[in-house]
Amino acid sequence: MKPRPKRRAIATLLALAITAAAGSVQAWGDIGHRIVAELAWRQLDPAAKAEVQRLLATDGDDSLADIASWPDHLRNDPEHEALGKATGPLHYINFATNCRYDGPADASARNVVGGLEKYVAILGDRHRSNAERAEALKFVVHFVGDVHQPLHAGNRDDKGGNDYQVQFGGKGTNLHRVWDSQMLYTADLKWDAYADKLAAEGPVKLPRAKGDAYVQWAEESCSIVARPGFYPNGHKIDDAYVAKYLPVAETRLREAGKRLADLLDKTLD
Ligand SMILES: [Zn+2]
Repeated sequence: MKPRPKRRAIATLLALAITAAAGSVQAWGDIGHRIVAELAWRQLDPAAKAEVQRLLATDGDDSLADIASWPDHLRNDPEHEALGKATGPLHYINFATNCRYDGPADASARNVVGGLEKYVAILGDRHRSNAERAEALKFVVHFVGDVHQPLHAGNRDDKGGNDYQVQFGGKGTNLHRVWDSQMLYTADLKWDAYADKLAAEGPVKLPRAKGDAYVQWAEESCSIVARPGFYPNGHKIDDAYVAKYLPVAETRLREAGKRLADLLDKTLD
């Protein structure tokens, strides 16, 4: 099917409006996913950049940031509802208390590790159609963001903090939303200005690689969630919490951006 950008844009806006109204229960909000994608884009090597651009164009898209939240909106789009349902569990992972991954580290895993395995393999497979690979690109960009959002790989039985109510700025919300977007909003920057600010901090120093990369990224997220004080005292997000954890959230965005760039370089060159 030929891309029809106008219709797609309207459908996307509608989906966004519906999601906003319903209160998103998924990954980094749009702002976090856009920042990760933009940071990755700026660090891609020229060959991977050209291939990304070619794949995006097959679907009428022009930037990695624009497609970064696509998998979060599938369920609100009648055309993609089934795909949204089928891929729902691939946005996160639930750990036991010890933050040690003990499932299969391959595409059979019904969690974000399996989601990354599956869609990176499709993206790198030159025998697949452009349409399949373009779709896989959207999932890869999104899931690298998700696995770096600490509450997408937590170790409590509270739907990644969605069931954990907190007070923030005098209003009721939940811990997942605070980490998705509300804490990032306190910087009062639009996503592109935020990406500029984080890029200006220079190259991020990545933790030393060990074992399966996707498992490592998920376990890192879990270990952040397991820190004392991550679940705030008295269910209240105060200035001290933001001062302590906003830099942690920003580091996760920078790590995700660099790792996504490295992954796309490796997969597409
Ligand atoms: Zn997600």
